[in-house]
Amino acid sequence: MPGFSTNAIHAGQEPDPTTGAVITPIHPSSTFAQDGVGGLRAGGYEYSRSANPTRTALQECLAALEGGRHGIAFGSGMGASDVLLRVLLAPGDHIVIPHDAYGGTFRLVDKILTGWGIEYTPVDLADVAALRAAVRPTTRVIWCETPTNPLLGIADIAALADVARGAGARLVVDNTFASPYLQTPLALGADVVLHSTTKYVGGHSDVVGGALVTGDDELAERLRFTQNSVGSVPGPFDAWLTLRGAKTLAVRMERHCDNAERVADLLAGHPAVSRVLYPGLPEHPGHEVAAKQMRRFGGMVSFTVAGGREAALRVCAATRLFTLAESLGGVESLIEHPGAMTHASVAGSALEVPDDLVRLSVGIEDIEDLLDDLRTALGAA
Ligand SMILES: *Cc1c(COP(=O)(O)O)cnc(C)c1O
Repeated sequence: MPGFSTNAIHAGQEPDPTTGAVITPIHPSSTFAQDGVGGLRAGGYEYSRSANPTRTALQECLAALEGGRHGIAFGSGMGASDVLLRVLLAPGDHIVIPHDAYGGTFRLVDKILTGWGIEYTPVDLADVAALRAAVRPTTRVIWCETPTNPLLGIADIAALADVARGAGARLVVDNTFASPYLQTPLALGADVVLHSTTKYVGGHSDVVGGALVTGDDELAERLRFTQNSVGSVPGPFDAWLTLRGAKTLAVRMERHCDNAERVADLLAGHPAVSRVLYPGLPEHPGHEVAAKQMRRFGGMVSFTVAGGREAALRVCAATRLFTLAESLGGVESLIEHPGAMTHASVAGSALEVPDDLVRLSVGIEDIEDLLDDLRTALGAA
């Protein structure tokens, strides 16, 4: 089997058979000529909501990177989550979500799906006993993020897969934070992997997209049918940008990890910081599990500021290289205050995050410049 970067650069991306173009063409065509009524040409394209060649290339690449037979690309991560949950859940069913789930995932479940008769329980998935206790006869889905956003908690994917199997539920892993380079949940027993390809897979903060990968033929068929029915597809240019980003995923992730480790070390020794949340630190409660299931520990680092909420807001306002912005996983470093920004929608719920918390998406700039920027900003705490 080819290695990760060989797949990233070649899977689904044979040179174009008619022109020899080395790079997959962007096919903007919405429709495809048929040789007679119902006579599709080899390859079988008819209409770009149903399938498009540029999207196919991306899907084959993502499937290879996650080690699944089927990749399905979406117009956003939330579009992928919506289709997946509509396929896996029916009225009366129950889903377990992480107690610090991505805010948009929580909103989809809490504000939309409950209106269609779905029940949910937020659980700290680092605690397998708590998960077992939360599972009901109606539980159809266990939704896992690891590392979690923004608290960087770690769940043991293989252990969760055991619980899911015993309960007759499916294990979904949102692998956005790790990327397929650092972690491949299907190999650990997950049924479906979800990505916001907006983040590390695209990697350049220039395209919104999502993806599902699974090894289950029957499930893939139902996912494709529902996606085609509701229409949450990426355009060909978006698919192309994502594919272009994916080619360099391995080298980018190595640098994200190098830089995040240095940032975590700086924060751990700084008097303005009360706690550093990074699974690469030996004192992180999920360190051993992360070391078992991840290649390295990723580019996301969160920390709490000793001076409390106001001091945390001052740090966010004081960085210059770390841009104050939502999102993550791009080549540029970002800083944000989850309580007031990405996770404002969970305020007052069981998923509320500490108000002295700051989240960093550590980019791939020169590390000394990043450390200088943080030292200066922490001086303002
Ligand atoms: C961003 C994100 C999503 C949602 O993806 P979009 O592309 O923004 O729709 C889902 N899960 C995680 C962990 C994310 O970071």
